[in-house]
Amino acid sequence: MALSDHVNLDQFMAGLKRRNPHETEFHQAVYEVAANVFDYINDKEIYHEQQILRRIAEPDRIIVFRVCWEDDKGNIRVNRGYRVQNNNAIGPYKGGLRFHPSVNLSILKFLAFEQTFKNSLTGLPMGGAKGGSDFNIKGKSDNEVMRFCQSFMDELYRHVGDDVDVPAGDIGVGAREIGYLFGKYKRLTNRFAGVLTGKGMEYGGSPTRVEATGYGAVYMMEDMLERVDSHIDGKTCLVSGAGNVAQYATEKLIHLGGNVVTMSDSSGFIYDRDGIDKDKLSFIVDLKTRRRHSLENYAKEYKAEFHPGKRPWQVPCDLAFPCATQNEISREEAQTLIGNGCIGVSEGANMPTEQEGIKDFVKAKVLFAPSKAANAGGVAISGLEMSQNSARITWREEELQSLLRNIMREIHDKCVEYGAARGSDYVDYVRGANIAGFKKVADAMIAYGVV
Ligand code: NDP
Repeated sequence: MALSDHVNLDQFMAGLKRRNPHETEFHQAVYEVAANVFDYINDKEIYHEQQILRRIAEPDRIIVFRVCWEDDKGNIRVNRGYRVQNNNAIGPYKGGLRFHPSVNLSILKFLAFEQTFKNSLTGLPMGGAKGGSDFNIKGKSDNEVMRFCQSFMDELYRHVGDDVDVPAGDIGVGAREIGYLFGKYKRLTNRFAGVLTGKGMEYGGSPTRVEATGYGAVYMMEDMLERVDSHIDGKTCLVSGAGNVAQYATEKLIHLGGNVVTMSDSSGFIYDRDGIDKDKLSFIVDLKTRRRHSLENYAKEYKAEFHPGKRPWQVPCDLAFPCATQNEISREEAQTLIGNGCIGVSEGANMPTEQEGIKDFVKAKVLFAPSKAANAGGVAISGLEMSQNSARITWREEELQSLLRNIMREIHDKCVEYGAARGSDYVDYVRGANIAGFKKVADAMIAYGVV
């Protein structure tokens, strides 16, 4: 087939939208990758001929199931469970479970698609998947959460395995939920296998896993700044979110001399002009005991501003770290950040910036690390948790911290290799991450033939 006969980006996206109607988040994630990949493969016949992108954008398998559980009052409750196994060309499926009322197939397909490229970028042998449920963890007792997790695993155990698919945590799924899920898996199969990551240290967890995503997003920023002879020390930083990723991003920023002035959650955001220090951070959440205070209480305690129902992006800053959820920086907010002099954005959350906002950041030459590169530290340590489980050993914390630092540097360097613009110093990290992530998966798929 002559190159001119190939579908172009618009035709590809039109087909994708026709086959996956109403799945707007999925369309958004695929477009972001396809725009760069189409440009890259323009003169590379084999990727067209083998329909590689079309194949990666069609999940290998989607499992949807009923999750019945009983609440504390004896009522039968019904939720929907999902596992999207997107692609296992370079290793067993790997990706988190999200328990949140907003969960639907479009969101999980976008996350599983993204995960495929992110896992490839880590350099470790992991395919891409994602799963979860529309279960709302908020307001549930421990026993209710346990019963829900056990019922969820009653079906999921058939589809996962240490060499098949290894889920982990995500929004709403932390150490407690992983414990309940793993306990049920072990009971059902009579196997003690590394089938989940993010486990407790007592039963096969890895040092550094809990910090890895937040730390990694900060390391990515450190490397981007270093390339332009700058650093985090003394820079004013905005962080959104107050969960796992946000807490550890904030901790690392404080450690490196950054002045973090905001954090947020679904109630709104705090603006502390004096900066959040280690003690203040442990008021929001004690990283050891996981005890949390509300952001409103923080504002009262430390005389900070509390902005209910708002996001922090209007606050002037040098660096921004969106660490809450998808599409939390709109195009207008991206423009506000640029207008206020923001020079760097590192995405701790998955796809937190709207598509047009990303284009504006790149156009304005903001150092912009997309989530598939910036937050890959978490899954990288999960990959190393799988290795430790297979070998039945636990590595030392210092060793893992240093591996995390190196993996993030390698991801940064891959983005530079594929994202450096000709005739300019600027690196388009979005393009770099998309192409580097795509190439490894695509080449493995070509090696397998049409399967
Ligand atoms: P958590 O559940 O620990 O924290 C999420 C935080 O974001 C909470 O503060 C939550 O507020 C806030 N939040 C969630 N939804 C909204 C919303 N719609 N509006 C405003 N605030 C919101 O999750 P994580 O920190 O683990 O995950 C955060 C992001 O990072 C997600 O996009 C996740 O996919 C991504 N990620 C996480 C990894 C990990 O290792 N944990 C790995 C890679 C990516 P509230 O508590 O009020 O709901």
